[in-house]
Amino acid sequence: MKILFATAEAVPFCKTGGLGDVCGSLPVELALRGHQPIVLLPAFRQALESGQPIERTGIEFEVPIGGKPVRGTLLRSRLPDSNVPVYLVEQPDYYDRAELYQEQGSDYNDNCERFVFFSRAVLEVIEQVAPETELVHCHDWTTGLVPAYLKTLAGRNVDFSQIASLFTIHNLAYQGTFWHWDMELTGLDWKYFNWQQMEFYGQLNFLKTALAFADALSTVSPTYAQEIQLPEHGCGLDGVLRQRAEDLFGVLNGCDYGEWNPATDPHLARQYSVHDFSAGKAACKQALQHEMGLPEIADTPLLVMVGRLADQKGLDLLATLIPQYAERGEVQWAFLGTGDPKYHKLLADLATRYPKQVAVRLEFSNPLAHRMEAGGDLFLMPSRYEPCGLNQMYSLRYGTAPVVRSTGGLADTITDASDQAMSQGTANGFSFSEYSPEALGATLERAIALYRNPDRWRQLLLTGMQQDWSWSTSAERYGEVYRETLARVALAV
Ligand code: ADP
Repeated sequence: MKILFATAEAVPFCKTGGLGDVCGSLPVELALRGHQPIVLLPAFRQALESGQPIERTGIEFEVPIGGKPVRGTLLRSRLPDSNVPVYLVEQPDYYDRAELYQEQGSDYNDNCERFVFFSRAVLEVIEQVAPETELVHCHDWTTGLVPAYLKTLAGRNVDFSQIASLFTIHNLAYQGTFWHWDMELTGLDWKYFNWQQMEFYGQLNFLKTALAFADALSTVSPTYAQEIQLPEHGCGLDGVLRQRAEDLFGVLNGCDYGEWNPATDPHLARQYSVHDFSAGKAACKQALQHEMGLPEIADTPLLVMVGRLADQKGLDLLATLIPQYAERGEVQWAFLGTGDPKYHKLLADLATRYPKQVAVRLEFSNPLAHRMEAGGDLFLMPSRYEPCGLNQMYSLRYGTAPVVRSTGGLADTITDASDQAMSQGTANGFSFSEYSPEALGATLERAIALYRNPDRWRQLLLTGMQQDWSWSTSAERYGEVYRETLARVALAV
């Protein structure tokens, strides 16, 4: 099938979170299975400086943004180790900036315009480069208008209404909402600005637009697909999602073991594999303690966390617990992340107060993320909600036991080390349900107790390291979802 991926992130070009991982690896997996994907990205500064070979195509286009014509050009590259073409939409005023969406915790105030332009560029690319596209796979709010344009705009050479659209929700909380007058920027008729299509409590909402116009919807784990249909995790859109329950699929993300494999990982002090990991992990732990400025003590449990510092990630629970543990001095904590300034301050303050127990790096560093996965004993993901989560899958492969709240994709991948699951050999981590410091604290106590029992600990790590969370099952499943999506267009005609 000829599939166009419309996305704001794809590794190794640009990434702020799991979306980038998915859109960098899923197209390659699809190509291996006979599909013909192409990827379209904004030419963010991060992408231009990624070190990937990028060439000019000479293709130019112009689209109206709120009545004024705005020009863009197309650059071309490839996903590494594949023949998957990547096109980058160059528009320096919009995309040549320090970050992708925001700086110092504040969104760029022209985000609506930036992603209206990108969404319209998708149709230009179909016209000029990929007129045989059968399906556009859109990802998150930044591409939320694409399904609406496909349904409403007339093409010059292409009948857009025949092209299917699948919209994948990677995180329902980020919706792209803007004041209603930004409708003018979209070029779409005001008749669509109603509560069933583009309007959400008086505002223009990109994600809701996609929920209304896309032929099919998906999200990144079966549990999250259920959770978002209920008020607690529906972010105000649960009603719309319930209406489209028949068209909503939950497909778990896969893990790219080419990139995340301790046996070949170039970033580690010492590589190791499932067959022989004790010495390798010990070396990685010591190297990480050294790098983070923590005392190099082998048998102190090292708890690590990597991720966007957002409310979603459960940092408020840790803020309560860390001082209690730090006074007792029995564990070490290492954090890598960027995000909300309030969490930067919280973590920096904890590191200053407890320099022997808490170490923090407030930056984005892929090599250090790999070393954290390898050097930790426990990987923390006490998320309020987690659509899929990739870090828990990485940490399983690296022999670092995940401690997770049982929600979304975390519930679909982590089996708690209960006595029963341990005796059945299915346990691969620790999980808890209630979102409270007490529930997390009790789970950490259980985890630390198991860490002190070398045989059982080894069994837990081995179970996780041997599991296969690769893309193979999920890429097959996406193939089926694409066929289901095409069938819906055929039915509508
Ligand atoms: P989310 O998509 O909500 O950010 P995921 O767990 O699905 O969470 O994916 C996060 C991805 O982003 C992982 O690959 C993780 O290693 C990476 N990541 C997040 N923050 C950082 C950081 N500060 N430095 C390096 N990698 C990071």
